Amino acid sequence: MRKIKELGEFGLIHHLSSRLKFRAADSILGIGDDCAVYPVKSGTNEVISTDALVEGIHFKLSTTTPEALGRKALSVSLSDIAAMGGAPKRVLVTLGIPKKISVSYLDKLYSGFNEICNQFQVELAGGDTVSSPKCFFINVAVIGEANRVFTRQGAKPGDLIFVTGTLGDSSLGLQLLNKKKRAHEDHKFLIERHLDPTARVHEAGILSRSKINITSMIDISDGLVQDLYHICKSSKVGAQIHEDRLPQSPEFTRTCNRSSIPPLPLLLNGGEDYELLFTLPTDGVKNLNRQFLKAKVLVTQIGEIALKSRKVLLKMRDGTMKTLPESDGFNHF
Ligand code: ADP
Ligand code: MG
Repeated sequence: MRKIKELGEFGLIHHLSSRLKFRAADSILGIGDDCAVYPVKSGTNEVISTDALVEGIHFKLSTTTPEALGRKALSVSLSDIAAMGGAPKRVLVTLGIPKKISVSYLDKLYSGFNEICNQFQVELAGGDTVSSPKCFFINVAVIGEANRVFTRQGAKPGDLIFVTGTLGDSSLGLQLLNKKKRAHEDHKFLIERHLDPTARVHEAGILSRSKINITSMIDISDGLVQDLYHICKSSKVGAQIHEDRLPQSPEFTRTCNRSSIPPLPLLLNGGEDYELLFTLPTDGVKNLNRQFLKAKVLVTQIGEIALKSRKVLLKMRDGTMKTLPESDGFNHF
């Protein structure tokens, strides 16, 4: 295998990009010129977003594989498009490469990119390749299309709050990853939920194509409570959620029981589950449940939007109410 120095910047870009298989049918130009080019469609909205993963902050080279890192770098960006009810179409990838990263490492990273691009029919249409003094970093910009745009703003008192999938798996997985001892099968599942999350792109498509009046939506990246506060603030409402309704995976429940880990803080504040959190009026619930049952995806009503306080309240199992603080989720600074 040749060294990055031998390949040079353009040799490396050519080497990496030649591995990518998926090309969008409407592309005019992909990688290789100064810009990628494609025609814009009328009657839809373009949605764009960008996300960076920095070594030492978002990942450690010692605890993840390059393939999983590639998949995750794309998945977290695609999740933002899903959160708006959009379908991702194109990504641009910027790599900051320190000396310790080899061509074979980047090959595996691009295998991960390739997998997600094929899975969700997303074209990797370009990027930038720079050297970095110490840390490896990846930035992914994503462009998608949304016929209906679901924002954080629009939740109304009386709306019901739903979440896809299960909560807390990723943050429990991260705890296990840092602990080393992980003999149990359940640990593997939880660690995978952290290292290799799935963006809810298909589920966003179901919601978008349905006639359901989704009044607000967000993806859970910083923790349920913090992200629910984002909806509440933007919509100028409050919310009440129920302890006994927060969806847990069997792996999560068993691991918490076995190791005497209190589940509630993880369910409420654990980040990086990349599930969709959204609100709708009660008359849409039947339709929602029907569509998700058909797609075989778990969706759970965890609470309702309230007018009174602009706070997120938790109804505990014993019936008492607790006001949840806004700041226990993830924050970089
Ligand atoms: P410029 O010098 O004009 O910015 P570059 O040499 O950075 O162009 O990039 C040349 C082509 O390769 C462009 O199409 C760019 O989008 C693409 N590209 C650069 N880096 C990457 C990368 N890491 N992955 C995929 N495509 C890339
Ligand atoms: Mg460039």
